[in-house]
Amino acid sequence: MTHATERCDVAIVGGGLVGTPLACALAELGLSVALVEAALPPPLAPESPLDIRVSAIAPASEAWLRALGVWQRMPETRLCAYRRMHVWDRGGAIDFDAATVPAERLGTIVENRLIQQAALEALGEHPRIRCYVPLRAKALGWSGERARLTLADGTVLEAALVVGADGADSGIRALAGIPSFGHDYDQWAIMTQVRTERPHDHTAWQRFLPDGPLAFLPLADGRCAIVWSCTTAIARAYMDLPDEAFLRALTDGSEGLLGTVLACGPRVSFPLRLVHAVRYVGERVVLVGDAAHLVHPLAGQGVNLGYQDAMALVTAIRQGRAQGRDAGESWVLGRYQRLRRAHNLLTAGSMDGFKYLFGNVNPVLSGLRNLGLAGVDRLGLVKRAIMRQAMGLNPDVPEVGKEG
Ligand SMILES: Cc1cc2nc3c(=O)[nH]c(=O)nc-3n(C[C@H](O)[C@H](O)[C@H](O)COP(=O)(O)OP(=O)(O)OC[C@H]3O[C@@H](n4cnc5c(N)ncnc54)[C@H](O)[C@@H]3O)c2cc1C
Repeated sequence: MTHATERCDVAIVGGGLVGTPLACALAELGLSVALVEAALPPPLAPESPLDIRVSAIAPASEAWLRALGVWQRMPETRLCAYRRMHVWDRGGAIDFDAATVPAERLGTIVENRLIQQAALEALGEHPRIRCYVPLRAKALGWSGERARLTLADGTVLEAALVVGADGADSGIRALAGIPSFGHDYDQWAIMTQVRTERPHDHTAWQRFLPDGPLAFLPLADGRCAIVWSCTTAIARAYMDLPDEAFLRALTDGSEGLLGTVLACGPRVSFPLRLVHAVRYVGERVVLVGDAAHLVHPLAGQGVNLGYQDAMALVTAIRQGRAQGRDAGESWVLGRYQRLRRAHNLLTAGSMDGFKYLFGNVNPVLSGLRNLGLAGVDRLGLVKRAIMRQAMGLNPDVPEVGKEG
């Protein structure tokens, strides 16, 4: 039996948080795009309860999603902007306030499924995008100036560029022969939603406990999303606790800053690891998002880094096209890698450093840490620089954040 061979400029494997808006951005450049996604979650109805998986989306990422017409498709009633962040541990605390940047918000807590759904709706209106959903990409080959991507139903996509946006266990990374390095954190993140005695006050609360950070992220319905990273053994024990005991552990863990934690929803947990691709590019292949780098969630940077990758890739392709180059030429891919890899490595390294410093009971390190929190809290300039970095307003990557 012969199978269809279809041509496009760019084939994106992975219609997750990063792949879907990237498809819109590339179509807006005038490119024909194929988006291949193995499995989509069921759609969220306007009245559906808030989904458990949420992300803190930085203002720079919001601006990009807005420019693509994705952000506006998400009902405002499901989004929760946060203006302040309170971070503390045994001996010190630091407060970040958007007003000092100045900005309206430090970020917005958004359901992952909502972003994906809004981006899928937006790309449905682009005549230049074809979706292959649900279909898995199976094999990768090359022929002349094209990559050949074979899908599970036998369809072959011939593309100038294949983008691996297929997550931390990226099959495209493996098929392109790109090695990765990393390590297991021996930590799991527990996520749930809770109702607290005191209002969240549009503030993200994060306490560094010796076993890992505990975050209370404000939700649009007045509850908080919990992201509690702890060692594998402790996470297992917390997952098995009856609700009442788990709520007590949350109240103690947060030192009652939001009052008593009154009720919680179902709990889910995720293993935490660091994965970083040795290269972000191969022959007519490029990696973006978690396929290129999986970082610790303690600073809520993962998908925001993915959006910066996507913006940088669009910039590199646009610049290449201005010189008559196609999207998969090594000039374009090299430029993309230069824009992103060092920056992402630095971020992944700082997350590792934070995790080590805050998880350490060595008195010298904990003294330094407390000095650090209290000291940074008094240094307005340093605080503003940290905030601008987390908000994606980073002057090191001038071309990122300006893409429409
Ligand atoms: C507990 C936790 C909390 C987090 N909180 C935050 C936060 O607050 N802020 C933040 O910025 N980040 C956060 N992150 C990170 C964020 O969730 C990820 O960075 C983000 O989901 C990565 O998006 P992606 O599109 O690169 O990959 P994914 O979301 O993993 O999407 C990959 C897609 O590829 C598809 N796929 C895979 N293989 C194939 C194939 N062969 N063919 C076709 N399709 C395929 C999959 O079905 C999937 O839809 C958090 C992560 C965790 C674990």
